[in-house]
Amino acid sequence: MELTPIAYISTPYKEKFAIPRQPGLAPAVKGKITMQPDFNDINAFRGLEGFSHIWLIFQFHQVPDNKWTPLVRPPRLGGNKKKGVFATRSTHRPNNLGMSVVRLESISHDNGQVCIEVSGMDLLDGTPIFDIKPYIQYVDSLPTAQSDFAQQPPMQLAVEFSEQAQRALARHSEHYPDLEQELTQILSFNPCPAYQQDKDEQRIYGVRLYDFNVKWRLCGHIEVCDIETV
Ligand code: SAH
Repeated sequence: MELTPIAYISTPYKEKFAIPRQPGLAPAVKGKITMQPDFNDINAFRGLEGFSHIWLIFQFHQVPDNKWTPLVRPPRLGGNKKKGVFATRSTHRPNNLGMSVVRLESISHDNGQVCIEVSGMDLLDGTPIFDIKPYIQYVDSLPTAQSDFAQQPPMQLAVEFSEQAQRALARHSEHYPDLEQELTQILSFNPCPAYQQDKDEQRIYGVRLYDFNVKWRLCGHIEVCDIETV
């Protein structure tokens, strides 16, 4: 079977680092799915507006080499314990397929282009989408399910903004009114892998989100030091 992307998603996540490790963790962050010409038919979405959430089936298109390994180190376990790839949501898997439940914000049809706005996605900017399906509550939600090492959401840290970062938020508030909330949600999950977290509180980490280079340090909590325009 050969798969053809039906759409591509644009998201603020310009690099893999700091993307939440599952959907729904940063619900304020929005993305836009733009249908490819062969699938750009609004009829294909008739009735979908009545669903609050959708499944996205997509390709982890930026996995460095396409080799998969039977054992992976889930970040949830501090990166130092191995689990079978099929016991994890690792991106290093045969076929590189990902699946995420995201909130459906809107379906639009402007100048002949069908676009689906979603929020809370854990997808890199430019990720190819292979399929879209409605989330069906009575079958997809299993509150008594056991999820072993991933039973609870990951731990969160408080996020504070330096004066310099607050000035940057104020400067960009017109075009990015939710930036503070988005950064707080994203960074609260402490993106750095455990093995990188030396005890150096002065160490500055950085990531590209939108057209910003967001810089922070880890000092018991997360302190956003600066938000530079790229
Ligand atoms: N919810 C999905 C994805 C879980 S892994 C699933 O269970 O299948 C989520 C991680 O995938 C993100 O933190 C990000 O680092 C990585 N990722 C997202 N989009 C990607 C892409 N297009 N290529 C490679 N890695 C990607």
